[in-house]
Amino acid sequence: MTRYDIAVIPGDGIGTEVVDAALTVLKKCEARYGLEMEYTFHDFSADLYRRTGRRITEADMDEIGKSDAVLFGAMGLPDVRDPEGLELGAQVEMRAHYGLFSSLRPVRLFRGVDSAVKAEHIDMLVIRETTEGMFAGLADVHEPSDEQASDRMTITRANCERLFAMAFGQARERRKRGTPGHVTLLHKSNALRSNVLMEKVFDEVAAKNPDVGSAKLYIDAGSMLMVTNPERFDVVVTENIFGDIVSEIAAGLVGGLGVAPSADVSLERGVFQPSHGSAPDIAGKGLANPIAMILSAAMMLEWLGERRGDDRCIAAARGIQDAVESALESGPRSRDLGGSASTQDVVEAVVDALPA
Ligand code: NAD
Ligand code: MN
Repeated sequence: MTRYDIAVIPGDGIGTEVVDAALTVLKKCEARYGLEMEYTFHDFSADLYRRTGRRITEADMDEIGKSDAVLFGAMGLPDVRDPEGLELGAQVEMRAHYGLFSSLRPVRLFRGVDSAVKAEHIDMLVIRETTEGMFAGLADVHEPSDEQASDRMTITRANCERLFAMAFGQARERRKRGTPGHVTLLHKSNALRSNVLMEKVFDEVAAKNPDVGSAKLYIDAGSMLMVTNPERFDVVVTENIFGDIVSEIAAGLVGGLGVAPSADVSLERGVFQPSHGSAPDIAGKGLANPIAMILSAAMMLEWLGERRGDDRCIAAARGIQDAVESALESGPRSRDLGGSASTQDVVEAVVDALPA
């Protein structure tokens, strides 16, 4: 039996609570689907930095990178800042260190959850580029100044090629379960030179994937259409900061961050985490919706299963997705979805809905 080594970084705030929840579900799946998982916990958080000054290093990430996958809760506390004034966030450092160039953020309207807009059927995958774009200059040498500060948006051909190949591949995979097989690029080539290159490479990759439909929209108009007509989108791919924002608009359409999972992946590595942060406003109260984290754990199993050709992982991922679907349909629902259930109530409902 293949054993999977999973590095777990619970992080801050509700990160620790939703990670506990996902581990409860994963442990049930181990017995049910005959999986063997070994979890190694890594205590990195903004809270640790505040107490001890210790933050994740390149050596830590090399060590963590020996695992088969990383399960990540959430990191960052608004009032914990480094000397430059930036927040702590190992998720950003891991993207750079492991070259995780794409963040896959599926957004689906589940039965039993009200949409914020008039739409029956929302089922899209937002792919946010995660190593360059507006975050390209994070490590740039710069003079701290109180008068002027800059960030740098850089787009490279090589990264666009692999990002768009991923987008078309994902559209093709999704089509197997009934989605249209279509990719939309959201960009700003009317005003940004970097985006002119991005659009050009998108056209080239689209031409090489004629079986998958494609479209391009300016990010501003595309953002409006996402709210007024979300049903037109299948796979959406975009630059780093645009994707950060648009993926949360998309999450807002289907019930919010509490049901929005994500997977930061390269072709070799994956960090699986909910789209939300540490939610200090509800942390420690048992109110966090664990669904986003549980669905991120399912994405981890799917990714491991596909890479290793392990059908048990794929079956377990489907089992979790189905259990979440049925738990959301029949309740209990957490407060963010208009209910009054605790994190624990929701976890129990998901575990109960897993196949016996
Ligand atoms: P947030 O995602 O933590 O919270 C935004 C709002 O959504 C809050 O009202 C919160 O209560 C609610 N919310 C989020 N997840 C929820 C869940 N699972 N169940 C119920 N409600 C939920 O974003 P924020 O408040 O802007 O950021 C808080 C901290 O988290 C900051 O320090 C930020 O930098 C950090 N952050 C980390 C990540 C990450 O680890 N990947 C992502 C975003 C923000
Ligand atoms: Mn975000």
